[in-house]
Amino acid sequence: MLVVTCIKQVPDTTQVKVDPVTNTLVRDGIPLILNPYDTNALEEALRLKDKYGFRVAVLSMGPPNAELTLRKALALGADEAILISDRAFAGADTLATSNVLACAISKLSEKEEVGFVLCGKQTIDGDTAQVGPGIAVRLGYSQLTFVDRIENIEAGRKTVRVRRKLEGRHEVVESFFPAMISVVREINHLRYPTVPMRLNSKDARVTIWDNKVLGLDPNTVGLKGSPTWVSKIFSPERTKGQILGNGMADPEGTARLLVEKLKEKEVLTF
Ligand SMILES: Cc1cc2nc3c(=O)[nH]c(=O)nc-3n(C[C@H](O)[C@H](O)[C@H](O)COP(=O)(O)OP(=O)(O)OC[C@H]3O[C@@H](n4cnc5c(N)ncnc54)[C@H](O)[C@@H]3O)c2cc1C
Repeated sequence: MLVVTCIKQVPDTTQVKVDPVTNTLVRDGIPLILNPYDTNALEEALRLKDKYGFRVAVLSMGPPNAELTLRKALALGADEAILISDRAFAGADTLATSNVLACAISKLSEKEEVGFVLCGKQTIDGDTAQVGPGIAVRLGYSQLTFVDRIENIEAGRKTVRVRRKLEGRHEVVESFFPAMISVVREINHLRYPTVPMRLNSKDARVTIWDNKVLGLDPNTVGLKGSPTWVSKIFSPERTKGQILGNGMADPEGTARLLVEKLKEKEVLTF
């Protein structure tokens, strides 16, 4: 059985700036990294491989340089890597992205049964968390989001039990597979590739699929197939705080003043 892991190459956002004139991300010279949540999705797929003997395929839609990211996944132990790259796919929103990824997964399932699609909870550039559920809906798979533990897989009954991390509580859910599982960072700790694995991955083959291979209607992919777009992007302005009292020179007086101000603003009500 195949576990497909969807991974996206993203700008290292701790270093990304927004162009104040065009309101777009300044991407020039910005290092690219594997979306952090996707590193956990890949790690979890590799753990499923170790425990159940599944095969792991990694899938990424992106520009040609995303091949490097896929090679890193091969170095970690993925069995197969596919880069979906075509000018026709550029400028895709989440709808068009899930459409292309779902089509590629469906193509993979023609050769081998796909049991699970693992995704990160969200990316750190688009941040929408829509692509995983979008893939599940298109393929008719169960969707299990915000998963922080895969508890059990029963191959005979075709069921999977997972724990979902919600605000202030956990939820244990059992579902049939094939399933799309989107993971949070707490699900696991990452492994590191050994030197021989790194060396082997240099010669490993990344398969490239363009739209000649997928054969999607050009009106349903890329910019043409994208009903949403980012009209403006900006960092919220920081408002300068006011210093109250004499600070550490008079801690009691400063604390009293602070409590008064918080009461004035009805933050404290006692
Ligand atoms: C700053 C910014 C804001 C954006 N805002 C929007 C928006 O509001 N609405 C919108 O429709 N589009 C938006 N986009 C476009 C968006 O980047 C693309 O649609 C993108 O391909 C997928 O959306 P996402 O990054 O939000 O992914 P998410 O839905 O957050 O990603 C969830 C998971 O899906 C998988 N995945 C996502 N993209 C890929 C991929 N290309 N290849 C393989 N796996 C993938 C990964 O496992 C990932 O962890 C935005 C882009 C940027 C840079």
